[in-house]
Amino acid sequence: MSGQAIPVPSTVPSTLPNNPPSTGPISRITVLSGGMGGARFLQGLQHGIAAGTLPGVAPDAEITVVANTADDLWMHGLKICPDLDTVMYTLGDGIDLDRGWGRRDETWSVKDELAAYGVEPTWFGLGDRDIATHVVRTQMLDAGYPLSAVTTALCNRWLTPRYGQGVRLLPMTDDRVETHVAVADGSTPSGRRVVHFQEYWVRLRAEVPAEAVIVVGLETCSPAPGVIDAITDADLVVLPPSNPVVSVGTILGVPRVREALRATRAPVVGLSPIVGGTHVRGMAHQMLTSIGVEVSAGAVGLHYGARTGDPEDGGVLDGWLVDERDADQVEQVREAGLACAAVPLMMTDLEATAAMAAAAIALVTGAGVDGPA
Ligand code: GDP
Ligand code: CA
Repeated sequence: MSGQAIPVPSTVPSTLPNNPPSTGPISRITVLSGGMGGARFLQGLQHGIAAGTLPGVAPDAEITVVANTADDLWMHGLKICPDLDTVMYTLGDGIDLDRGWGRRDETWSVKDELAAYGVEPTWFGLGDRDIATHVVRTQMLDAGYPLSAVTTALCNRWLTPRYGQGVRLLPMTDDRVETHVAVADGSTPSGRRVVHFQEYWVRLRAEVPAEAVIVVGLETCSPAPGVIDAITDADLVVLPPSNPVVSVGTILGVPRVREALRATRAPVVGLSPIVGGTHVRGMAHQMLTSIGVEVSAGAVGLHYGARTGDPEDGGVLDGWLVDERDADQVEQVREAGLACAAVPLMMTDLEATAAMAAAAIALVTGAGVDGPA
C-alpha cells in the first residue's frame, strides 16, 4: 500500500452522495427513536403531517420509526421493551401522560400480589393492563416469532386503526442487546458493579455517576428486517431529541446503520436533546459524561458529526437544530460542516413539537417553513 493512502475502514463509504435538492415531496420519513423524547417528537411530527404544516412534506407521508431495544429486559418471565412500548402507546393514545410510560388508567394488582409473595425485583413496576402486552409479546417470542413480527402484531392494535400504513414501528434489531452501566461500589473487589440499564435508571434513578456504558451484543447483532432499507430509501431521516448515548447511540451502533445513514440520499437532521446546557428530563447528562462528551447542544451535534467530515469520523448528520438558549453554539456547529439553526426546542405541546419538526426539515431542505408540498 502506498504510504500516502489514507486508510478508510472498508465499511465506511469514502464518497458520499452530495444530496441533490429533493425533486418531489417528502413522502418517507425515518426516525431513529428512544422512548419518551422520541415518542413525543413523533407525536408532533405526525401532527404536523396531518395538519399540513411541514414544508415540502406530502399530506400522506409515511413515518418509519426505528426504535432502540437496548433498554429491553426480561422480568418475571416477560420480555419488556420499554422504548418500543412507549412509542407504540404514545402514538396509539394509550400512554399514561403523567408518567410518560405504561398504560393510562392503569391498576397495579399483579405488582401488589408479587410484592406480597416477596418476589424480586420490586423496583420495576408493571401495571395490569401493560402486563397483557407483555404476555402477548412473550408468547409470540416463545412461539418463534422475531421481535419485529411481534411488534407489528402489537401495532395492529395500537397504530393501524389510527394511521393505516402511515406509521410503521421497527425494533432496531431482533437480537438480544442490553445496555449495562458500571457504577462505583466500594463493597466489591473491583470497586465497581455493573447493573442493567433499567436498574440504573429506575432503581438508582441515575443519581450515581455512570462510570461506563457497555452495550452487550451490539457489535454482533443484525439490523431487524426493514431497518437498513428504511434509512436508504427515506426522503428524510431524523434523529429526534432522544438520549444520544443509550437511545440513538445504540441504534447507530447496530452494524450497517451508520453506513446506511452516511450513504442515504436523504438529508439527515438531528434535534438537540440538551437545552441550555442540561438534559430536559431523563439521564442524558450522566450518559454523555460517561462517554466523555460535554453536556451541551453543540457537543452532541459534533459527537454525531457531519457526513461531509473526515470519513474516518463516521459523521451522520447534514443538519443540527439547537434551542434558542444555545444560539451561541451555532457557529461552532457550522464550522464542523453542519447546517445549524437555533429555534425553541421544548416539546410543550403538539404545535410546538410540530414546529420543531418543520424547522428541522427546513434546515436541511432549504424549504421555507410555510406549508406542505
Ligand atoms: P427515553 O428512552 O425515555 O430515555 O427517551 P429518549 O431517549 O427518546 O429521550 C430522552 C431524552 O429526550 C432526555 O434525556 C432529554 O435529553 C430529551 N428530551 C426530553 N424532552 C425534551 C424536550 O422537550 N425538548 C428537548 N429538546 N429534548 C427533550
Ligand atoms: Ca429508553
